[in-house]
Amino acid sequence: MNILIIDDDPDARRTLGKILNAKGFEIEEAGTGAEAIRSCGGKFFNLALIDVRLPDTSGLEVLKAVHGINEDTIAIMMTGYASLDSSIEAMNKGAYSYITKPVNMDAVLVVIEKGLEKQRLSMENKRLMQELKAANEKLKELDKRKSAFVANVSHEFKNPLAVIKEDVGIIIDGLAGDTSPEQKKFLSAAKRNVERLIRLVTDLLDISKIEAGKMEMRMENFDVIVLINEILANYKRELEKKDISLKQDIQKDAGAVWADRDKISEVVINLLNNAVKYTPSGGEVGIKLIGNENEVCFEVSDTGPGIPEEYKDKIFDKFERITAEKIEGTGLGLPIAKDIVELHKGRIRVESPAWKDLPAGRQGSRFIFVLPRDLKKREYVK
Ligand code: ADP
Repeated sequence: MNILIIDDDPDARRTLGKILNAKGFEIEEAGTGAEAIRSCGGKFFNLALIDVRLPDTSGLEVLKAVHGINEDTIAIMMTGYASLDSSIEAMNKGAYSYITKPVNMDAVLVVIEKGLEKQRLSMENKRLMQELKAANEKLKELDKRKSAFVANVSHEFKNPLAVIKEDVGIIIDGLAGDTSPEQKKFLSAAKRNVERLIRLVTDLLDISKIEAGKMEMRMENFDVIVLINEILANYKRELEKKDISLKQDIQKDAGAVWADRDKISEVVINLLNNAVKYTPSGGEVGIKLIGNENEVCFEVSDTGPGIPEEYKDKIFDKFERITAEKIEGTGLGLPIAKDIVELHKGRIRVESPAWKDLPAGRQGSRFIFVLPRDLKKREYVK
């Protein structure tokens, strides 16, 4: 450990130096500010004892210069009672402490030991932070590579799966010759499973594109009511199959938004799929659309189990599944929906407010997302 003693009084420097040297410190001396700054430029000092009054400059200036060279050097000001104010000012500007002259050696040693301990901890802290930063960078890089790998594999899977689905469909439809009802049953099960795989790889591709910032947006003005009606038309059979009733509350003048139509459609479909998936037979799914001058609000509600308070944010994280262990799914639908909505500068949330008289354990969910209208062509608003 080395200490620089900066004092214009050579006797005071020598006495102090001798005692500190005897305690095992390496000592260097400087009689002026300029000398001190030269010494600090040449090597690192663990600690500098700086006299507040120096012939060529003030102790405060020296403090600034010493810390400018290396902020890890612990600075302790030395002061007479008359210049106590400068020492207090110096502490506000980064000095560790001050000692009064004439110097009480026991007190000085305590301050020096404490200062050096602080330095050790803060340097250790810095080293750990650097290690953490490096480890973090490495993890980020690995995560990037892993995402790219998942994206590539998903991409490679998608086309063959589409071809299998198409071919199985052709056989089921009898276009490649007769098939027995028994064969059709097995082929239909195969087709359902292929469709499930396609949904999975599409989700994986979407999330990796979003993570890599490569999700392309095709923005256009479109009427949200037309979009919702198109989507709902495809749900009739699904709802009937599960004996779920549909409640629509669509404001006539919900109007238009400037957005990526396919992606917004994906968000609504994701929410509707979940609503149907998690609502038991005999339940109800609701869709609501309202708008004001600046925003359009979509709401998809259901009479399913609902989302416990502590999961309301978590379900929007990747792979987070709560009530759904035995139900098909990837845990990617909501994070993708959230990312898409946020790419449109919108917001999404869930409420679980028992919106109907539901039996115990059925709280019901209400997913709400809001998009800014942000229309590029004003005349589009009806
Ligand atoms: P997935 O449905 O594929 O599991 P999501 O990201 O769409 O993935 O949803 C995450 C989790 O949130 C689900 O696993 C489920 O636990 C819960 N969840 C989503 N929608 C609903 C809903 N309408 N009712 C109850 N739970 C839901």
